[in-house]
Amino acid sequence: MPASDGWCPFATARPITDSGNFETGRSGQQAKAVVLHIGEGPLSAFFPTFNNPARKASAHFTVGKQGEIEQYVSINDTAYANGLRWESAAGAAGGIWRNPRGVQVTPAWKGLINGVNPNYYTISIEHEGFFGEPWTEPMYLANLKLLQWIRDQTGLTYARGDALIGHNDFDNVDRPNCPGPNAPFDRMIVDLSGGDARRAALIAGANKIGVPLNDQSALAKFALQNRLGVPLTDEFQFNVNDAAYLGQVWSQAVVYVKVGDWGNVWRT
Ligand SMILES: [Zn+2]
Repeated sequence: MPASDGWCPFATARPITDSGNFETGRSGQQAKAVVLHIGEGPLSAFFPTFNNPARKASAHFTVGKQGEIEQYVSINDTAYANGLRWESAAGAAGGIWRNPRGVQVTPAWKGLINGVNPNYYTISIEHEGFFGEPWTEPMYLANLKLLQWIRDQTGLTYARGDALIGHNDFDNVDRPNCPGPNAPFDRMIVDLSGGDARRAALIAGANKIGVPLNDQSALAKFALQNRLGVPLTDEFQFNVNDAAYLGQVWSQAVVYVKVGDWGNVWRT
């Protein structure tokens, strides 16, 4: 764990004083992942909620739409943001996970430690706003800066679904849209991995072989994310059962998407 006191120097510290809403220390665990949330409310609502003895909820941070960063709990301590309860049972798995409402869930995250509440080994970041809203650029950049600071403190290596996850990766029943489809995980991963140079190299390389590349298109983003090599053609249209598709040949696969369904890109 961090050598520091776990308080981010560029965040506004608002330590919660209700000791029932967080736990000092991590019960012997270490942070294994950062969990992103969407708060479904304005920035001003978070601190009062997390300091309310009746709520038993908190997060380490909230990032606001204007790029504000508030911190409520040291990352050396345990916030109550994505808790699950383990229930021992006979059988190969040895037990099941239940969410705070007591409903059985099927967590997608493979980092869970059977029997140990994930709050003990995660760091949670809330975000201002609602899941249907796109992230503002200041919120994106502040979140990125915070992720980089957390990485410096913990040594985490971010990968989507591993050390960088969403609340929905724990609770697929009550939190399927936390943080929701507008949380730009792919962009974060690219930016956190020094992806700007990789992007620039890809565009320059594609231009070199005569392919104009819009690296912000759905197909190119998918191909870049999945490391499908270099684009060999411009995008082209084709039809399947009267439905229009857009495709592009990359050196490792053909990538394609149904026109309008831009979130669902496929590869051959
Ligand atoms: Zn959440």
